[in-house]
Amino acid sequence: MEDRKSDTKYMKMALEEAKKSGQAEEVPVGAILVKGDEVIARDHNRCIALNDPTAHAEILVLRKAGEILNNYRLNDTVMYVTAEPCPMCASAMVHSRISRLVFGAVEPKFGAVESRFKLLQDEGLNHKIEVSRGVLEEECAEILKDFFKERRGNLKEVRSSPAYAKASADKEFGELNR
Ligand SMILES: [Zn+2]
Repeated sequence: MEDRKSDTKYMKMALEEAKKSGQAEEVPVGAILVKGDEVIARDHNRCIALNDPTAHAEILVLRKAGEILNNYRLNDTVMYVTAEPCPMCASAMVHSRISRLVFGAVEPKFGAVESRFKLLQDEGLNHKIEVSRGVLEEECAEILKDFFKERRGNLKEVRSSPAYAKASADKEFGELNR
């Protein structure tokens, strides 16, 4: 089942998706769902664009794939995602019955596979997902780091401006989140 060569190939596609979300000011995370040799769905984080807090790349991909396969169970599929999934996405993957998850960068703050939570390792789960981690890890982490660095730079500039001092813009300039 382990196939490093195609893992890299598909993770590159996921990275291409991630780059699209970065351009749109969204946190750059991309995901691909593959069945056999076929890419069923691909998408990137689009919470801001869709005004949807659940519009993480993985969720969008699962939704699309369900429509395309005309099935709410996505058996025998592999999810490639550039960052360790959050609890919402990890749970959705269990519900959707994907067979395998391959992710790139770890997400120490909110990752739900090995970092903050270990949702996929729970013995009580009736569906086991095989996990491979660290595929193109550096590239996947880099794109996130660059994004947050740039955002922090922008925030600094904004905060040092007189306009910001006057504005009670806490909502707008609050903690960065997906
Ligand atoms: Zn998520």
